[in-house]
Amino acid sequence: MNRKSISRQYSRRKFIHDLSVNAGMAALAVNGLNLFSSCNDNTEKNKGSAMTKGNQNKLGIALVGLGNYAGGQLAPALEQTNDCYLAGIVTGTPSKIDTWKGKYNIPDKNIYNYQTFDSIRDNPDIDIVYVVLPNSMHAEYVIRAARAGKHVICEKPMAITPEDCDRMIAACKEAGKMLSIGYRLHFEPYNLEMARLGTTKAYGNIKKMNAGFGFPIGDPTQWRLNKKLAGGGPLEDVGIYCIQGFCYTTGLDPIAVTAQEGPKTDKEKFRDVEQSLTWELEFPGNIICHGKASYSEGLNYLQAEAEKGVFELTSAFNYSGQKGNTPAGPMDLPKVNQQAKQMDDFAQAVKNRRPTPVPGEMGKRDVKIIQAIYKAMETGKRVEIS
Ligand code: NDP
Repeated sequence: MNRKSISRQYSRRKFIHDLSVNAGMAALAVNGLNLFSSCNDNTEKNKGSAMTKGNQNKLGIALVGLGNYAGGQLAPALEQTNDCYLAGIVTGTPSKIDTWKGKYNIPDKNIYNYQTFDSIRDNPDIDIVYVVLPNSMHAEYVIRAARAGKHVICEKPMAITPEDCDRMIAACKEAGKMLSIGYRLHFEPYNLEMARLGTTKAYGNIKKMNAGFGFPIGDPTQWRLNKKLAGGGPLEDVGIYCIQGFCYTTGLDPIAVTAQEGPKTDKEKFRDVEQSLTWELEFPGNIICHGKASYSEGLNYLQAEAEKGVFELTSAFNYSGQKGNTPAGPMDLPKVNQQAKQMDDFAQAVKNRRPTPVPGEMGKRDVKIIQAIYKAMETGKRVEIS
């Protein structure tokens, strides 16, 4: 079956099955990683992507928002995917178009701006819309993509509020389309190993976890420091990886949290959002997880203290370069292109009508946890998470 007939067939059937998968089975995936996903690296190259013969059995992806992540990671990863390819772009900056067209061989009919975006519904080349915009714009573009009849990948954090997440999930369900979150580490072998060791209790019950992710932020004018666009500071941007790490390593969802804002050494730069914060999440079974997110300090670790020893990633959350230790010695696992694995897995989920391991429901869970952490930080009180 060629690519065109796949998209025709898929739009005809309206993905009723995906609808029920999204509704019913996503909850099963919320706590668990895709522990069974293959760790083989993809070697096939899609150079000169759009409309070439090699893309015939692949689903077409349109990237929305051509910033650092789309340009630096996702587009190059789409040259290494087997089940999807870069078919289109959506940008508000006309000066970016020629570079992208030249680099990725994208035809004019697959290039949109934010005003023409909704007409993507008439484009059979585009099967999946990938929203890579500033956080507060995710909800609008996911909903518009679903209404245009496209499956959607949305970057993290899914949205600013759980209510927006509900609207996004509902829009995809109504359209019979699948929704996943750009949680690339669910396809990364070292993080998968943390999940396996934790959930199989390889070293007994976990008693405590520690995680930190941070970097010194540069440009003071960027949207990440603007609460309206970012929703908050480093917790929204990088702390979410620590939350994710706690959940997939324990296989559990947290029940309560306390949190403390760190000092602001640059009050002007951080007038809108926190510069850093620490928090303690309580999980069932008296597991306490200490997290730290920072825009002024380099942090990148995920550690679990279990009854029979410590297992950890000392380089946990980056695009590559993961390092890990267990009581049995250092981890030695394959290196993969995380984004290629993530997008291929979603394309396979769409093609095979099976649930994604990173559904909208998981994105919503994390948005609820983030809100609880901020409430605990602001009130100084322990906040329960329902
Ligand atoms: P950038 O600022 O580099 O890019 C965002 C792009 O969004 C811009 O280049 C622009 O593209 C478009 N845009 C539209 N409206 C605005 C606006 N008002 N202000 C700023 N940009 C706007 O951000 P990133 O690429 O770093 O992040 C984008 C999303 O991806 C975020 O949600 C972030 O959390 C997520 N992300 C995820 C990562 C991961 O590892 N999963 C890593 C990095 C980011 P254009 O000019 O084409 O319209």
